[in-house]
Amino acid sequence: MVEGIGTAGVVGGGIGGLAAAIALRAAGWDVTVYERAPQFTEVGAGITLAANALHALDLLGVGAAVRAGTLEDRRGYARNQRGRILVDARISDFTGGLVALHRADLIAILAEAVPADSVRTGTRVVGVHADGRIETDGDTEQYDLVVGADGINSVVRGHLWPDSGPVHRTGIAAWRWVLDMPAPDPVGVILGRHGEAGVVPIAGDRTYVFTAGRPGITDLDYFTDYPDPLPKLIAATDRSTVVTDELLEIDVPRHLWKGRAVLIGDAAHAMRPTLGRAPAWPWRMR
Ligand SMILES: Cc1cc2nc3c(=O)[nH]c(=O)nc-3n(C[C@H](O)[C@H](O)[C@H](O)COP(=O)(O)OP(=O)(O)OC[C@H]3O[C@@H](n4cnc5c(N)ncnc54)[C@H](O)[C@@H]3O)c2cc1C
Repeated sequence: MVEGIGTAGVVGGGIGGLAAAIALRAAGWDVTVYERAPQFTEVGAGITLAANALHALDLLGVGAAVRAGTLEDRRGYARNQRGRILVDARISDFTGGLVALHRADLIAILAEAVPADSVRTGTRVVGVHADGRIETDGDTEQYDLVVGADGINSVVRGHLWPDSGPVHRTGIAAWRWVLDMPAPDPVGVILGRHGEAGVVPIAGDRTYVFTAGRPGITDLDYFTDYPDPLPKLIAATDRSTVVTDELLEIDVPRHLWKGRAVLIGDAAHAMRPTLGRAPAWPWRMR
């Protein structure tokens, strides 16, 4: 490792901030991560990682750990409201791979790769300056580089890109949760009249379930007349474990750097998950 390139303060210890910290350290930077939560946490739901994300995780040296819970090569489907199969694919059909895991597991793998003395949990950043200063409640530190990885309501974006505009509400509610049971067939997505739903097997013999309603669909019960196994999974769910949020997005600032500061992740370009990069679409159309 090349030592002594410079000092970097990373604001936010989510997927983006931890990934940036690993990459910067590997390039020889002296990194400090500021995370407001007392410990690294993630919502109690799953995440699907497409080929580009897996490639990045490989470059960070954590790809093998992320793939350790790789799914069996199972067939999955996109179906309509009546259960008719629109497309089908095996995991092995996805060029570059496809991995689904619990978000907490992904965060744990990333956090493991950042030494504890590079991390300040329970530390909220309240101000950032283009000259590299980071202010917390009672302290100011100077860095050669500031990475704003503090999510959609980014303090870094708010301070350094004051004209970047408000966070936009989409009116789309999303429900996400993980069941401690193997995913029953058929797995995949359902494109129904109230919105999209998904049943995804994740590492550890668990099932990640998500629904995202059309605007105005405000209750998970709208999805109980979807094709199997969704109704059974909803019935088996303790609703207090369901993560519910409205999907939000931002206007991406024209430049993602200012002085010594850069924006990454949702702080830079939060978007609807349906606008994320699609896997390499190997699916056989029906
Ligand atoms: C419903 C839904 C489903 C999705 N599904 C997928 C998927 O399957 N696959 C995929 O690749 N992507 C998915 N995404 C997108 C993905 O979850 C996000 O892009 C990603 O989590 C963003 O990570 P981040 O680190 O940039 O921000 P965040 O995860 O928001 O992390 C920001 C961190 O900064 C901390 N923080 C915030 N403010 C401060 C402060 N002032 N001081 C210190 N710390 C601070 C927060 O506590 C947090 O830990 C989905 C998104 C949604 C909404």
